[in-house]
Amino acid sequence: MAFLEEIQRRRTFGIVSHPDAGKTTLTEKLLLFGGAIRVAGAVKSNKIKKGATSDFMEIERQRGISVATSVMGFEYNGYKVNILDTPGHQDFQEDTFRTLTAVDSVIIVIDAAKGVEPQTEKLMAVCRMRKTPVIVFVNKMDRPAQDPFTLMDEVEEQLKIKVRPLSWPINNGPDFKGVYNIFNKSLKLFKPDIQGIEERIKFEDVSDPRLKDYIGDDADTLREELELVDGVYPEYENEQYLAGNLAPVFFGSALYNFGVQELLDAFVKIAPSPRPSFTEEREVKPEEKGFSGFVFKIHANIDPNHRSRIAFVKICSGVFERNKMYKNIRLGKSFRISSPTAFMASQKEIVEFAYPGDIIGVPDTGNFIIGDTLTDGEEIHFKGLPSFSPEMFRFVENADPMKSKQLGKGVDQLMDEGVAQLFTSSFNGRKIIGTVGQLQFEVIQYRLEHEYGAKCRFEPLSMHKACWIECNNEKVLTEFKKRKHQKMAKDKLGRDVFMADSSFILRMTQDEFKDIKFHFTSEF
Ligand code: GDP
Repeated sequence: MAFLEEIQRRRTFGIVSHPDAGKTTLTEKLLLFGGAIRVAGAVKSNKIKKGATSDFMEIERQRGISVATSVMGFEYNGYKVNILDTPGHQDFQEDTFRTLTAVDSVIIVIDAAKGVEPQTEKLMAVCRMRKTPVIVFVNKMDRPAQDPFTLMDEVEEQLKIKVRPLSWPINNGPDFKGVYNIFNKSLKLFKPDIQGIEERIKFEDVSDPRLKDYIGDDADTLREELELVDGVYPEYENEQYLAGNLAPVFFGSALYNFGVQELLDAFVKIAPSPRPSFTEEREVKPEEKGFSGFVFKIHANIDPNHRSRIAFVKICSGVFERNKMYKNIRLGKSFRISSPTAFMASQKEIVEFAYPGDIIGVPDTGNFIIGDTLTDGEEIHFKGLPSFSPEMFRFVENADPMKSKQLGKGVDQLMDEGVAQLFTSSFNGRKIIGTVGQLQFEVIQYRLEHEYGAKCRFEPLSMHKACWIECNNEKVLTEFKKRKHQKMAKDKLGRDVFMADSSFILRMTQDEFKDIKFHFTSEF
């Protein structure tokens, strides 16, 4: 197949949701259609139920064995679909944000009873920032649900995006009769006991009297509601969806495999093939001949006997070839990648070639960090993998003086993986770890001990935010750093960071130093 066709048939996306809305169930049903798995129950939930470290480690162990669950690729009707898994737990949302930099579109799953939940809002904010096209799937229609119009209002208001229903439900809960596909004017009846039957009944129009034969008096309500849908919502325009301005909406029940194939069929048709990516130097188009890609995730092998890691590389342009030399731009060093893995049909296998939109796993012994650019020579640097200001801070101290080297190495590598962020106080040289949640501290401690044989102790540090500072006026900057020297630190790349004790102090400092910009993400 020609290079261009390979690009055009690729669909790389992520499924996001608030925990419990049905992401895992939907993923599994999509994989069933793609033939990637044969039985339900094969996809492990990545949920941390009790919020406990042991739970997290257990999940990581399973994932470590089958890293494939991080990326699931399959063929469907001539398309190559790549689903990128995102962690559900909010303490690991930064991992999710980074994964979203590697997708070309997103499906947002919403629980029909609960509507838009806090995590959905946060994830949507990231999509908006990047203008990622999103499709909304309203799940659990087999359960008592909110009125669909109310739900649509909620999505528009809270997710700040225009919606366009492309299917419409007929009742919900025990009375759920099915969905009417507005796009291709067909009815699908819901039969909870027969899963996955995709019998569609075609109509010329909703005014077709046969509609009553199938759904009785609900036909009148459906006609009224569809009229309202057409009146209230804009026409569906694919450009609007691709520009990230309009979200098409589908209704269904992932558990009963209902409405999932419709979603998949529409998805492959309308969702974007790999889009251009941005580097500090220029825009990179997928169809360029030169190979380029970036590392968006590093997965440690939790097995203590093999301290290897896998760097996940999203291919942005050109063809990736096994055994060719590629350059890690940050290190200025070239590597031969002899056993790159692809993630197909839920197992990993060595690949000879990979195309833009694909994700490959590169075995790594510590050469890659998150955000690294890989090319066949050109000096470019991919953008868009910012670090967010952490929300919790602790001093990290060595609890076993005999193992200080191990501790240093362990902390370094965990930070390279993006588990948390490390700052070094410019005042006293103490190491500070910043996270977005308590669970991360526990995971760090656990992994340092089990993977590196090092022990650490955390000491409390009451801190509001770490801000990256920027100023054009060298004199002002020097003055600022002198005045605030007790609160200055360096991040891992040596950039200046101001550690604000409280939001009040941050505001005061911002007022006092008007020439200085305070950033809450590392990329500005
Ligand atoms: P995730 O946290 O978003 O990955 O959610 P899961 O896929 O693990 O689903 C959470 C719970 O909701 C599980 O018990 C599922 O069986 C259930 N569930 C998922 N989809 C549906 C659905 O369409 N209908 C019903 N009734 N339950 C569902």
